[in-house]
Amino acid sequence: MIPGSFAYHRPKSIAEAVGLLADLGDEARALAGGHSLIPMMKLRLATPEHLVDLAAIADLAGVRADGADIVIGAMTTQHGLIASALLTEKIPILRETSLVIADPQVRYLGTLGGNVANGDPGNDMPAVMMCLNATYQVAGKSGERRIAAREFYQGAYFTALEPGEIVTAVRIPVPAAGHGYAYQKLKRKVGDYATAAAAVVLTKAGGKIASCSIGLTNVAETPLWAEAAAKILVGSTLDAATVKKAVAAAEAITSPASDNRGPAAYRTKMAGVMLARALARAAARAT
Ligand SMILES: Cc1cc2nc3c(=O)[nH]c(=O)nc-3n(C[C@H](O)[C@H](O)[C@H](O)COP(=O)(O)OP(=O)(O)OC[C@H]3O[C@@H](n4cnc5c(N)ncnc54)[C@H](O)[C@@H]3O)c2cc1C
Repeated sequence: MIPGSFAYHRPKSIAEAVGLLADLGDEARALAGGHSLIPMMKLRLATPEHLVDLAAIADLAGVRADGADIVIGAMTTQHGLIASALLTEKIPILRETSLVIADPQVRYLGTLGGNVANGDPGNDMPAVMMCLNATYQVAGKSGERRIAAREFYQGAYFTALEPGEIVTAVRIPVPAAGHGYAYQKLKRKVGDYATAAAAVVLTKAGGKIASCSIGLTNVAETPLWAEAAAKILVGSTLDAATVKKAVAAAEAITSPASDNRGPAAYRTKMAGVMLARALARAAARAT
């Protein structure tokens, strides 16, 4: 339970951080809240020789409105998401999701940037970001770029980030006023990763679903955006037959591992159950 030795770096700017990561190469890792990386280091599943701590970089902090988007600095903690009045008002699914991540101790240090960049299919925020059509702002030594969350995840712990790049912020288009939302997570106990979870954001008009987006957590090597399932629901009143079809379409794109959270078939079914519950809660919240 003791990590290997490493050199510690504490840059003050994004440019300094990406410069260090580029110069130090494969042996360097960015450090954010440390609540995924340090456990991996203690188990010797990660043995970086250099840690580049992002904590002192002021430009990675804060939550701000920017036109029709909200921009959240990568070092914003999960506690910071819960405490943000702006997010609670405009994108309340982030608060709901943060509250089911781990426990307060983890949430005080664990960051949004670390959660989305980590690439662990068990992390909760990536599917929510796909559901919300978020974009990740990324910086590397050769400049800045933006990557859609829906295109970011390529495999377990394998993302679209190039070596030396960091996520600097998450940009989320503010969902329509009156939208309904829910993040429904099945876990074995408080503080656990999801057996399966579903994120839903929808709008209603004239008693029917006008728009719908669905993300699924921990039921494949990557988080999933269930586009076909959501399309089935648009135009419906969320009647039982249509929900059943949408649930089947969502279950069809899952490919979970059989592990200590249950056999694959069970986890697929639980993804469907979480989705049906999330749809009902989101619809009840929509105005
Ligand atoms: C007991 C326990 C329970 C947990 N339960 C859950 C849970 O239920 N759901 C959940 O989602 N998470 C859970 N976590 C993980 C937690 O949310 C982590 O905080 C999160 O996954 C990673 O964020 P971090 O800031 O701690 O990142 P770190 O651990 O510092 O970094 C994680 C990885 O991301 C990279 N990284 C970090 N920041 C950036 C960046 N800005 N740009 C590029 N790469 C970056 C690092 O190099 C590293 O590879 C749990 C953790 C613990 C210890």
